[in-house]
Amino acid sequence: MSDYDLLVVGSANADLVTRVERRPGAGETVLGSDLAVHPGGKGANQAVAAARLGARTALLARVGDDGHGRLLLESQRAAGVAVDGVLVGGAPTGVALITVDPSGDNSIVVSPGANARLTPADVRGAAPLFRAARVVSAQLEIPLATVVETVRALAPGSRLVLNPSPPAALPAEVTAVCDPLIVNEHEARFLLGGAAGDEPGAWARGLFALGPRSVVITLGSAGALVAEGPSAPVVPVPSPRVTAVDTTGAGDAFTAALAWRLSLGERLVTAAAYAVRVGAAAVTRRGAQDSYPTPDELPAG
Ligand code: ATP
Repeated sequence: MSDYDLLVVGSANADLVTRVERRPGAGETVLGSDLAVHPGGKGANQAVAAARLGARTALLARVGDDGHGRLLLESQRAAGVAVDGVLVGGAPTGVALITVDPSGDNSIVVSPGANARLTPADVRGAAPLFRAARVVSAQLEIPLATVVETVRALAPGSRLVLNPSPPAALPAEVTAVCDPLIVNEHEARFLLGGAAGDEPGAWARGLFALGPRSVVITLGSAGALVAEGPSAPVVPVPSPRVTAVDTTGAGDAFTAALAWRLSLGERLVTAAAYAVRVGAAAVTRRGAQDSYPTPDELPAG
């Protein structure tokens, strides 16, 4: 019996958001609305999403010894995430500086801060967490060397779920253990390069050439495509129809839900059928972590 269903290894950011009438040009200053500060970052989002669904969840991340770091720790604790693996100090907490114009378009500057200081040694130091978790979920807002070390730290019998976001070239050592590799359209096109056509079903086939054990492609309101192995069929998993208000963090909610259901022993297609309901629920409310549902808030599948 594992202590945790899910260990998330990833980033924690404070999202600093202000609305502007128009974005400033070079050398220009514009006034924005009152600042809103939200806990974010793909790792922190996934941990909160999983815990809110009822998953026993731990987070391995690094924040600064500052107010943003305390905000992030507090949001994790409030959701029920185990934070013994959240390291503090070394650099300021990562921030995303987000300006939103009246049409809803964003301009974002990310300062990785402490996320860039989550090191392979930190992963080695968290060996007890790796032994305690059935499924490990990672993304790419931390150094690639740290993701490689995460693969090396996997306990026998545990499973890696990887969302390569923001997209980057992946070493074969990493792709070979992804089960699944989860990508959205943008990430699929990046990984496939010039080989990507316009047929998502064919993307799954192309992605298997990189070596993952299984593949999931998320397609926004259309749901997801799932292939349980290189010679398995590509199965469409439609998302429930909902009125989308804000899609921020939907991909993180989907991935967290999928990883948790895999830890319970579900098949990938079954886990994805649950995850699309979680992703759909997340787009019906504003924000990322603020939008994540509890099980009683899920739309019917
Ligand atoms: P984001 O970057 O906005 O967090 P993403 O691009 O990584 O998301 P998407 O494919 O947009 O990922 O969304 C992930 C999942 O969320 C989808 O597979 C789907 O289940 C759900 N979802 C997203 N948008 C919608 C929508 N408009 N209606 C219903 N479900 C949605």
